[in-house]
Amino acid sequence: MMKQNCLKIKHYINTPRIKFVLLFGSIFLWAQINNFFPANLVFFIILVFGVLLTSKERNKEWEDQITHGDAGQKVLSFYGDELKYEETELDHILTRHLPFYGILNPPQKTIFRQRLHDFMQDKTFKIHARTGFREMPILVSATAIQISFGLSSYKLPQFAYIHIFPEEFLNTHQPDQFLEGNVSGQAIHISWKHFMEGFDFPDDGQNVGLHEMAHAYYYQNFISRDDVDNSFVSSFPNFNKTANKVFALEKIPGNDLFSDYALKNDQEFWAESIELYFEKPGALQDRYPELYQSLCSLLNQDPVNKIPLLRRI
Ligand SMILES: [Zn+2]
Repeated sequence: MMKQNCLKIKHYINTPRIKFVLLFGSIFLWAQINNFFPANLVFFIILVFGVLLTSKERNKEWEDQITHGDAGQKVLSFYGDELKYEETELDHILTRHLPFYGILNPPQKTIFRQRLHDFMQDKTFKIHARTGFREMPILVSATAIQISFGLSSYKLPQFAYIHIFPEEFLNTHQPDQFLEGNVSGQAIHISWKHFMEGFDFPDDGQNVGLHEMAHAYYYQNFISRDDVDNSFVSSFPNFNKTANKVFALEKIPGNDLFSDYALKNDQEFWAESIELYFEKPGALQDRYPELYQSLCSLLNQDPVNKIPLLRRI
């Protein structure tokens, strides 16, 4: 795994409240012992001050319990509208980790970072660990922006929460199953370990970030039907038609560009198509040119020729 800088993530749970209780208790005790005349007034002022000071934290903690119910596990919360990154820092992180960003020209890089800001703005990032990395919200969001770079709609408003786990995590619907990522309800879940492996090996056809974001864009456009991208929706049937043929071909022994997991159903086939499209575009084009072409039309990109935008949007 790549080396990352440890980050000063705000750790909301309890700390301010503990400080408040200690401060309040000491002052109140002192006032009582010294028979300080306005002790009751002091009590009242500090109580109001303490409630105001910790109310925000209490809300955040409440959200953690409501959304995950993970007893005993600390969750760090990043609120997209509170995240502050310098342009140079974003540029540095994206250049270092995201090959796609490297093929963009300077104006396209500016658009990419702008879209990234917009995407993160309405998201809450939940890190299921005691420490996190500054790159986490950026890189997870960046995989979505990579897929949607040629589309008009890219914000995935259906998914208000992005959960990041240090490694594979338990499937809440099937407690005996571990997952590297999944998309459900209003949330996208990612194992950071597997997510970073997608970046460490950018041409092995496996990238859990791209995989989950592909599911998310499908869900946004066809299930939630909110913030729909018209071009994506009108081009998808063409992809589907070709995908059905390739799906059948890949079931024949010897054809193994796609994994067995992709042949589970059309949704997994779609998500893995996106992984291959970005990570093994040459192989996908050689083996299934029609499928590759349908994805170029759908996403308005051409990864084989390193063209991130085929037509203006
Ligand atoms: Zn999947």
